[in-house]
Amino acid sequence: MTPITQSMTSSATLDTTDAFIAREEAWGAHNYRPLDLVIESAEGAWVTDVDGKRYLDCLSAYSAVNHGHCHPRILETMIEQASRVTLTSRAFRNDQLGAFCEEVAGVCGMEMVLPMNTGAEAVETAIKAARRWGYRTKGIPDGQATIIAFTNNFHGRTTTIVGFSSEPSYRDGFGPFAPGFVLAPFGDIDAVRALMHRHVCAVLVEPIQCEAGVLIPPPGFLRALADLCREHDVLLIADEIQTGLGRTGAMFACDHEGVKPDVFVLGKALSGGFYPVSAVVSRRDVLGVFEPGSHGSTFGGNPLGCAVARTALRVLQDEHLVERSARLGAWFLAQVQSLVGPSSHPDIVDVRGRGLLVAIELRGPARPWCEALKARGVLCKETHDHVIRLSPPLVVSEDDLTWAVQQLRAVFSA
Ligand code: PLP
Repeated sequence: MTPITQSMTSSATLDTTDAFIAREEAWGAHNYRPLDLVIESAEGAWVTDVDGKRYLDCLSAYSAVNHGHCHPRILETMIEQASRVTLTSRAFRNDQLGAFCEEVAGVCGMEMVLPMNTGAEAVETAIKAARRWGYRTKGIPDGQATIIAFTNNFHGRTTTIVGFSSEPSYRDGFGPFAPGFVLAPFGDIDAVRALMHRHVCAVLVEPIQCEAGVLIPPPGFLRALADLCREHDVLLIADEIQTGLGRTGAMFACDHEGVKPDVFVLGKALSGGFYPVSAVVSRRDVLGVFEPGSHGSTFGGNPLGCAVARTALRVLQDEHLVERSARLGAWFLAQVQSLVGPSSHPDIVDVRGRGLLVAIELRGPARPWCEALKARGVLCKETHDHVIRLSPPLVVSEDDLTWAVQQLRAVFSA
């Protein structure tokens, strides 16, 4: 074993960007292809790299940083709670968990909360809850429970979850996969109807498929899906991990169609980007299927995560971030849409969005455009090769957005 020396752990302030990248490439697994800037600090909607260059963050850590980087109120809670108690495990009770569950349930209009850490864990938890509910409440024969999911879905990276992905690169080399999932084309209610049978316990849907390229289903799809689920005694599970908590200009993307799912899956912005906190939120008859010993997590429900998430939810409300996302998002979308037209770049195929979640779909790869925007100080990332996702923190200022639109115009008129 190599002893850990100071030079290996210090931030090595004399290092260049290239040296940071070389170290990461040498020692870290290559499961991402990040843009080559090295972030050293961040505040609000802006990040600063090791060379002191500032960038407007238009990704927000895939919508985990909806509250802006290092939000002072959440930071204060983090420090205060971390100096009292961080982790108790669920072997003992802590003074934050009950209030966390009550407050998250309140935001969702639900009865019970099961806290986890990452989004994928929460999705796995929802799958377990739905299957047990299917066996115990609906009477599905043992081992037969089926979940309907959608083509182009993204629910995380565990082997169960990638097993029902339609994206070959997510699955390649990771099988064998768990059975019990069938896919319908996203947005096609007739296809879902055709898959309904008495062994279906749940439909798992992203109200907007963000990783697939910000795909918005046809109007009325979510409402029809909710009605179909009710008709067939099937749970509707909404994965709002990326779309929830204000990103689309409503508290939840399901709200745009007045749909209340049976199960919410939350993550990312639940903690304002400070700490991995996720949760499954549902009714008592669904989450009540778990008894001691049937599910758990060492860190899930820890007091640090709960305290941070409670403040993050309060900030969302106190700063009216949902309304802000709706108002600024409508303006931003209109501005970006004005890039499409006779005088705009022929590579732009479509601009779409909801709230502060905007996508530019291109004819070719999006990566070079992201690189060009980075050079102008705007950070965004390609999704599904040919789509640029623009999702700045919900605290972004109007001036910053105006400036971002100027950079987009400059890049696409070049
Ligand atoms: N579900 C959705 C809709 C997501 O966007 C993501 C992550 O991007 C996940 C689940 C997985 O979350 P995590 O990366 O925290 O496991």
